[in-house]
Amino acid sequence: MAKLIDGKAIAAEMREECIARVMKLKDAGVEPRLDVVIVGDDPASHQYVNSRLKDCAEIGLASFTHTLPAEAEQAELIALLEKLNADSSVHGILLQMPLPKHMDQEEVLAHLSPKKDVDGLTVANAGALYTGREGFAPCTPSSVMKLIKSTGVPIKGKNAVVVGRSIVVGKPAAMLLLAEHATVTICHSRTADLAEHTRNADILVAAVGVPGLIKGDMVKPGAVVVDAGINRVDGKTVGDVEFDSAEKTAGWISPVPGGVGPVTRKILLENTLKAAEKLNGLD
Ligand code: NDP
Repeated sequence: MAKLIDGKAIAAEMREECIARVMKLKDAGVEPRLDVVIVGDDPASHQYVNSRLKDCAEIGLASFTHTLPAEAEQAELIALLEKLNADSSVHGILLQMPLPKHMDQEEVLAHLSPKKDVDGLTVANAGALYTGREGFAPCTPSSVMKLIKSTGVPIKGKNAVVVGRSIVVGKPAAMLLLAEHATVTICHSRTADLAEHTRNADILVAAVGVPGLIKGDMVKPGAVVVDAGINRVDGKTVGDVEFDSAEKTAGWISPVPGGVGPVTRKILLENTLKAAEKLNGLD
């Protein structure tokens, strides 16, 4: 039976560390601050943003929300981002996605300072990850790494398989595993025999969005299994891994909910504090 990777417990530890970092910054005369930019009135996006603001408040991190109407011009959004880039009291900027259809996401993101891009969405930060330079990786794959590392199982030399290749989860997770010297395979919807790959994984990361895609018989005995999937099925939140069968084979497994999600939220705070420290020469 697999050991549980307890995301909630890891998040609780991170919260305490964040509180200490906030106090240190304040002692140095810096009031760390995250600004959230949201366009439109999509309820799910607003709910997501509200939970992020609550996280900030919990650790004493100042936050500010800028809401633009759904019909706002792209130029207005870009002007706001540039204003926040130039404002030295703002350390992190979270631009809530998706943007309204009339906006060009890539063009807008090109106006977000990589130094304040605490969600790791800019091409500059993706490039930093790709080239092994310092930057901000997206929060969810960073959370995946944190959960893997929490097991104490060495990553170096292991076969790691990532299922999913999106730019926010799968690809950056693969790059982060590669940086830790895993031998990485990326699977996707056109992978011919998914199980053949997953059964070879010492470390298996699911980032697909298909409930229960990974069954227990697709998991290598003793593997570390981290499930980034968030799917709603019959009013319940479930992952991409069929937990009940996979926990019988895996060595370690993260649950959904209570695995990747809570740690992802704390990574955003950590990144904002890192930005505040760096921008003020305190890192
Ligand atoms: P995307 O839809 O952008 O990407 C899904 C990926 O899964 C694609 O690369 C797709 O392949 C691949 N895929 C789809 N079906 C299959 C299949 N049958 N077999 C193998 N691969 C398949 O999703 P995201 O990366 O944004 O999100 C993935 C999951 O993670 C979702 O459940 C999402 O809700 C969750 N998520 C969780 C977060 C967290 O904090 N825990 C944050 C963000 C997302 P192809 O490229 O070929 O289409």
